[in-house]
Amino acid sequence: MADQGDQYPTEKMYPAPAPPPYFQGAMPMQQYPPMPSFAESPPMQPLATAPPPPPVTFQPVQTPVIIPRVHEPVVIDCPHCRAKITTSVRYGIGMMVHLFAVVLCFFGCWPCCLIPYCLDPCKDTTHECPACGRHLSVVKRL
Ligand SMILES: [Zn+2]
Repeated sequence: MADQGDQYPTEKMYPAPAPPPYFQGAMPMQQYPPMPSFAESPPMQPLATAPPPPPVTFQPVQTPVIIPRVHEPVVIDCPHCRAKITTSVRYGIGMMVHLFAVVLCFFGCWPCCLIPYCLDPCKDTTHECPACGRHLSVVKRL
């Protein structure tokens, strides 16, 4: 009787009791999945180390040119023809034009809903190179 009284307080000292044995048997925590990375990768390295490939020299011709997000012609170096040019801008119908048209239709301005399609300040701007004629950038309104 005195031994049971001594053992009972010692069990309460453990903060987290161990799970029962049947719980451990239900969860196979000890089984680790096989690692296929080692099994599938054959040793590709030959015994004699191959010489490193010669460094390939790329000509830095395709340097990205950051065109400022403006809707007016800007002076840049064309990334295609390497000329210092002032971009030629074209205006195209974008989301802003459609949005204005929908808003005008929503408020009942039926004849006026086509006005944004004629206004360049509502349109997207396409920058092109006047020398080589290539597309450079599109600045969207929306
Ligand atoms: Zn160009």
